[in-house]
Amino acid sequence: MTTKLHPQTVVDEPSLLSFLNELEEQLQAISCTLSELAFVQYQTKRRPEGMAEAEGAQAALMSNPDYQEMIGRFAGKVDDPVLSRRVEVWLRAFRGARVTANPDVRALVNEISDAIVAHRYDVQGDELDLGGVRFLLRTEPSRERRRAAWLAFAPLSRRLDARTRELFRLRNSIAQVEGFETYAHMQMEAQGLTLPQVKAILEELSTASEPAYREVLEEGAGKQKLSSIQPWDIKFLLDGVGGLPARYFPRSGIIGRLDEWAGHHGLDLKELGISVHMLDIPYNGLCMGITPRDIRILGNWADGHNYYKTAFHELGHALHNAFSDPGSYILRREPSVFSEAMAELIGYTVQDPAWLSHVGLSASEVASAATQAMGPWFAYLRQRTAHALFEYEAYANPDADLDVLNAGIEARVLGCHFDESPRWAAEPNAWYTRYPVYWQNYVLADVVASQIHHDLRRRFGAVWRSNNALEHVRQHYWAPGGSLDWQEKLLRGTGEPLGTKALVADLSNA
Ligand SMILES: [Zn+2]
Repeated sequence: MTTKLHPQTVVDEPSLLSFLNELEEQLQAISCTLSELAFVQYQTKRRPEGMAEAEGAQAALMSNPDYQEMIGRFAGKVDDPVLSRRVEVWLRAFRGARVTANPDVRALVNEISDAIVAHRYDVQGDELDLGGVRFLLRTEPSRERRRAAWLAFAPLSRRLDARTRELFRLRNSIAQVEGFETYAHMQMEAQGLTLPQVKAILEELSTASEPAYREVLEEGAGKQKLSSIQPWDIKFLLDGVGGLPARYFPRSGIIGRLDEWAGHHGLDLKELGISVHMLDIPYNGLCMGITPRDIRILGNWADGHNYYKTAFHELGHALHNAFSDPGSYILRREPSVFSEAMAELIGYTVQDPAWLSHVGLSASEVASAATQAMGPWFAYLRQRTAHALFEYEAYANPDADLDVLNAGIEARVLGCHFDESPRWAAEPNAWYTRYPVYWQNYVLADVVASQIHHDLRRRFGAVWRSNNALEHVRQHYWAPGGSLDWQEKLLRGTGEPLGTKALVADLSNA
């Protein structure tokens, strides 16, 4: 299906350009097939025919030593800035594939994530799935039963502890061949970040938002008459009750609100090739860019404000995808941290007071919405921060007592008592295994989204229904794609380097 490429004939920039055009055309064709098949898999819940073949073709392309060697020779030696950027992005992609396509890594990833997905948790004699355990941690008024739910992660964590450390060591060993201290360092580089920079941002955000966090947490503890806060109280206190009235946010209204949002900004989702599909998927939402003109949002939604948040988040992914126009396929692929930020940028719509009153909330409901959102938002950011900081330490010290290490980080970041019962290797949904060094992307996405929203408000006053604000976003963040480093885009777009000030303000002004 593909013509043969001849890296040995590439001698100068023009021949490099035509080689990369052809290579990217092939990769795009394979990726398109893979996403079509993945969509079918979500619909039928069966692995469709042809999937293994397409995966094999992708792995072969991404691990071709002749391509890597030839493109590597041009590193830092190309005059044309866009071509130079393409070389850089290709070399990063090859490097990442050396870990993800490694057969031993793949075997361990499958073994561990299968065990996590299949596991059933024993809570006081009840056999529960992950959703059941999480529901208890969020809503169960009996503290003893919450504690039992918390301890239910221990048997699985003990069982997977050694194999997960092995996976960490294996990834480290490949990263070290590439010249990185640990795999976490290498993954950060692929995101256009450095590990010390990310750690500093996460610590700064925690410290600066600590007074506001303490207030929310202690208010919750006071209401529940708890004199001490244990790890199994956190989700219950922050995320358990309250929320905006579900009657304003029916499942049946979600797609209409997305279309309406687009209409207010002079856009037509159909014309952009963006479609929405209600499917029983293992996530709340998902966005698949099959081609630039076929972008599918998949939603597994119910009634409630949360699901509107997810839907607008996915719309952000879709618009980023639809308006990305860097003139090269490989440059359409941007670091996940930036993609998540672009999704959150539109996801923030559902907490905008102007939008909330537009969908029918009364003035007093709008006024209390920000306060009500704080507990769940802190739960979201702080748990992810703790997971991320733990993961970096685990890669740095894979032989340490990781239960103790994890408990120490959680106690500090979440503000609860130290409890070393094993749980790190039973981490829900196997993120450490399947999406390594990914947790910080969610936290940084909000750092970026808040920074851009503050800037847009300074420039245009309002964001909801502002075509000027949307045009600014399109021009500065979406259209250039990966032809510019994302931190550079943020600097040019907002006039300031990446910083936590705006998110800290959003978290403190409820
Ligand atoms: Zn997302």
